[in-house]
Amino acid sequence: MQTEPQNQPWIRREPLIIIGSGPAAWTAAVYAARANLNPVVYEGEASREMIPGGQLMFTTDIENFPGFPEGIGGQELMERMRAQAIRFGTRVVSENITTVDFSHHPHRFVTSGGSEVRALASIVATGARANWLGLSNEERLARSGGGVSACAVCDGALPFFRDKRLFVAGGGDSAMEEATYLSKYASEVVIVHRRDAFRASKVMVDRALANPKIRVQWNTRILDVLGDDFITGLRVEDTATGCPADLEGSGLFVAIGHTPNTEFLRGQIALSPSGYVETPSPWRTCTSVPGVFAAGDVMDAYYRQAITAAGTGCMAALEAERWLAHHHVPGAEPPMLETVDAPTLLERESGV
Ligand code: NAP
Repeated sequence: MQTEPQNQPWIRREPLIIIGSGPAAWTAAVYAARANLNPVVYEGEASREMIPGGQLMFTTDIENFPGFPEGIGGQELMERMRAQAIRFGTRVVSENITTVDFSHHPHRFVTSGGSEVRALASIVATGARANWLGLSNEERLARSGGGVSACAVCDGALPFFRDKRLFVAGGGDSAMEEATYLSKYASEVVIVHRRDAFRASKVMVDRALANPKIRVQWNTRILDVLGDDFITGLRVEDTATGCPADLEGSGLFVAIGHTPNTEFLRGQIALSPSGYVETPSPWRTCTSVPGVFAAGDVMDAYYRQAITAAGTGCMAALEAERWLAHHHVPGAEPPMLETVDAPTLLERESGV
């Protein structure tokens, strides 16, 4: 890794930048700001596919985030987390980070506004996006709380879905897991799969198929989601015969995989085969690049919950604080936790 002289006043140089705007990013910002790391959050800019705030901006009621016994709207939760981060001095920039260069230290970032930023440490918390079938009514009803969702654990227990026939789209482990979870609340769960075989693991398929509330609609492509304000069913097509049909039901859970938002990191940091940022040490958020930490769904293909994202955001901020303190960054306070294993840049470069 190359280091560079510090006297380049025309380029902003930050101690810590946080990329993202979901629960992981805002929690990291709260912790970092309270530790006097003067963080700046690049929260992203609104586009057709994405709005700052991440996936919770598309969630109506959140009933499983501790501290809100009556539940809380996803947007409101994100606004409150953002306000809490700002209250402690977090600066917020409504731009995307489009390019990174981790081969130099301080690390280099280019924003969608064309600015270049350098940072001594960074936390990647850009999340993952649920894959959707790409049907216009699906998107509309997911945004309006009309009975279409991509997270059974988040939404399945809502009164709206209780004792109803619900559909799950997909044939992987997520579809099996969502169907099994939903069967606790629904009168019937129908897994709608486009082929005649599941790709899910045998143990999860066996558990789903043994459940008397779950049945499978094989060889079925979903053509449309029916209903104006609320879903009333699906228009489907038999992939073998081409015959269309309408199926009645009161909910659709799309479980056809997730895509982590890591395109801008390709070639700069170790990613898993499915594109998630790798954090090689268990219960740690450090990545393959010294000084770069990852938190939330961008590094977690397994739990994918708001509360786990917030938890890893806290962990990333504490690790960044320790890392910066270990590298004698001016202004950084003594770390809350002692660093035992973070080598200094000098040590890394000299192979000590
Ligand atoms: P996945 O394994 O990629 O499965 C996606 C499923 O969605 C496939 O059955 C696929 O159909 C279907 N699909 C994809 N695009 C579609 C489309 N446009 N229209 C209709 N169907 C479509 O994704 P996943 O189930 O989310 O699992 C991701 C990873 O997480 C896997 O490694 C999985 O093992 C892991 N996971 C593990 C657990 C667990 O162990 N508890 C739980 C959840 C996930 P085809 O089969 O026809 O391609």
